[in-house]
Amino acid sequence: MEKQNVPELFGSMVFDDRVMRARLSAKDYKSLRKTIDENEKLDEKVAQAVAEQMRDWAVEKGATHFTHWFQPLTGVTAEKHDSFISPSPDGGVIMEFSGKEMIKGEPDASSFPSGGLRATFEARGYTAWDPTSYAFIKDHTLCIPTAFCSYSGDALDKKTPLLRSMQALDRQAKRILKLFGNEVKYVRTSVGPEQEYFLIDAGMFEKRPDLIYTGRTLFGAMPPKGQELDDHYFGVIKPRVTAFMEDLNAELWKLGILAKTEHNEVAPAQHELAPIFSTTNVATDNNQLTMEIMQKVARKHGMVCLLHEKPFAGVNGSGKHNNWSMATDTGANLLSPGETPYENAQFLLFLCAVIQAVDDYQDLLRLSVATAGNDHRLGANEAPPAIISVFLGDELSAILDAIKNDKPYEGQEKVIMKLGVSSLPRFSRDTTDRNRTSPFAFTGNKFEFRSLGSSNSIACCNIMLNAAVAESLKQYADQLEKSESFEADLHQLIKETISAHERILFNGNGYGEEWVEEATKVRGLSNLKTTADAMPHLLDKKNMDMLISHQVFSETELHSRCDIMLENYCKTVNIEGHTMVDMVRKNYLPAIEGYLYSLAKSTSEMKAVSDKVKCNYEISTIERLSELTDYILERVKDLEAALEELKGYDDIMKTSQFIRDDVIPKMEHLRKHVDEAEMLTSEKCWPFPSYGKLLFSVY
Ligand code: ADP
Ligand code: MG
Repeated sequence: MEKQNVPELFGSMVFDDRVMRARLSAKDYKSLRKTIDENEKLDEKVAQAVAEQMRDWAVEKGATHFTHWFQPLTGVTAEKHDSFISPSPDGGVIMEFSGKEMIKGEPDASSFPSGGLRATFEARGYTAWDPTSYAFIKDHTLCIPTAFCSYSGDALDKKTPLLRSMQALDRQAKRILKLFGNEVKYVRTSVGPEQEYFLIDAGMFEKRPDLIYTGRTLFGAMPPKGQELDDHYFGVIKPRVTAFMEDLNAELWKLGILAKTEHNEVAPAQHELAPIFSTTNVATDNNQLTMEIMQKVARKHGMVCLLHEKPFAGVNGSGKHNNWSMATDTGANLLSPGETPYENAQFLLFLCAVIQAVDDYQDLLRLSVATAGNDHRLGANEAPPAIISVFLGDELSAILDAIKNDKPYEGQEKVIMKLGVSSLPRFSRDTTDRNRTSPFAFTGNKFEFRSLGSSNSIACCNIMLNAAVAESLKQYADQLEKSESFEADLHQLIKETISAHERILFNGNGYGEEWVEEATKVRGLSNLKTTADAMPHLLDKKNMDMLISHQVFSETELHSRCDIMLENYCKTVNIEGHTMVDMVRKNYLPAIEGYLYSLAKSTSEMKAVSDKVKCNYEISTIERLSELTDYILERVKDLEAALEELKGYDDIMKTSQFIRDDVIPKMEHLRKHVDEAEMLTSEKCWPFPSYGKLLFSVY
């Protein structure tokens, strides 16, 4: 790898603030900034000027096409490329790009999921420029981040509700800040998503239809060595992986993505990449790009990057940690304990808002990360459980306890926790970030939501989080704006909120069996184990009311989303089921049969040589393998029947329940027998590479 000049490389493919300032007239720049920072509508003339500069810049950088880049509900990003060319009278072409083309696009939307939002006769949707996320160049194409809506204005994507949720939080947070005498331009949420992934050899990948069709292995016996030695975590990175990471960083930096930390994860072949945090919608766009580029760069290095939540059974799966906070335009982090008592009171109120939000909308947070893939992780002793709870750490918990009970806080110094009178003790980051088993942990100046699956778009959980916190803040603002004695009422409000929501606070081991008991039986927290259990709660009245009142979703959008997410779950499992049938019928059964035949043949030939030859190994193997073959045949028939029955269902709720209760258990059953057969069959006869080969073949 040649030497890189990182500052020069960074953002070189982004139409960022530096470029805008340098290229636009002072007046146009100011007007654009107002649109970006304060949501002001962009003047048509300014749009034209921006488009022209954008085009010139892109063409100079070698771009030939442009696209509106958007995030439909498929979970991946979509783009449709148009070239800049326009015929000129002399028979040649000129490179053209208008303000209109920049601001609005009209892709044919009929093949994107809409959950019934868009009637087929109205195939067109439109994309609208999101000026708060910078345009960039990828593969000679100028990509313009956009929202994607139907003609009736319903959101068909993940960006639109995310932007709406940020606005909802901005509205309510500003009301609260005003009460504390802080007038700010805006409050934005920030996110730093830590991304886990697996890297395996491309040659091995190509040999596994399950990986090709579903992104995960549907069969595979455990290798002799897994992750038990913990020798991979933070271990020396292998040369091939190092080369990949260097290349990946360069590609991400060019796109202005702040790739910062990289290390080996717990499982063999597993790694993590974390960027420096940014504004939530930018972080979301960047995370989508990161996932895409990881896969591309891996291919260049003869590897495949697996983003599935559980590519290998028995080995840790991959998640994503959503580090989240709120900050003002002046950069003040609202989840940072302050220097003065007054700042501390403000901090405590925002902290309460988050605690209340997580308690009141546990189900929304849970369902925001629900996918067929992530169902394998949550609650499997490697990831947080499906139960949502908040970890605050001992010190902050003791402070809240003291407030709740009007008791002195017994920290480093004895202080009576009367807000506005005494200051909060400073607590160090170290004391707050020790619990790794909590789904939602306070880590000093931000919360870390750890239940996301590695392939999830971070848009989904941040939509719910922003909206739910906006709702808590709204309730507080409604109350405090009427208050005649602010400090006393504030103190009372914080105290009451702690009492009302302390059931969601849990500092213990979230992986333990006892916690499941306590959480569900004693505390009444919800434990929504699968996507089929969680997703229907999107339509619970309290959830719909909240999301609609903050204008994050419309009623029709919510119905369509619930349908789409459940449909996605059903389709995913359905494909997995069919892949299993295919592999068993075409490969596993014939392979085992072939091996049995060769054993049988050699047994009879050996016996013919001498009566003293017992053939114990051959005979016992034949007996067990032939028994397993019969089981496998029965199980695959069961699965085939279930998949056939599935075709008869048309109600999506019922389909998802049938998948959960019938199809998935049958898949597991089938797998068990095949995996046992793998342990008894000669590796030479086995049709697919083993777990050992998949996990340990990159050096
Ligand atoms: P770890 O969780 O591994 O201990 P860190 O705490 O250093 O790692 O950071 C994790 C992520 O949190 C990083 O992406 C970092 O940029 C992000 N982060 C730090 N501060 C904030 C903040 N105020 N808002 C959102 N994310 C943040
Ligand atoms: Mg972390």
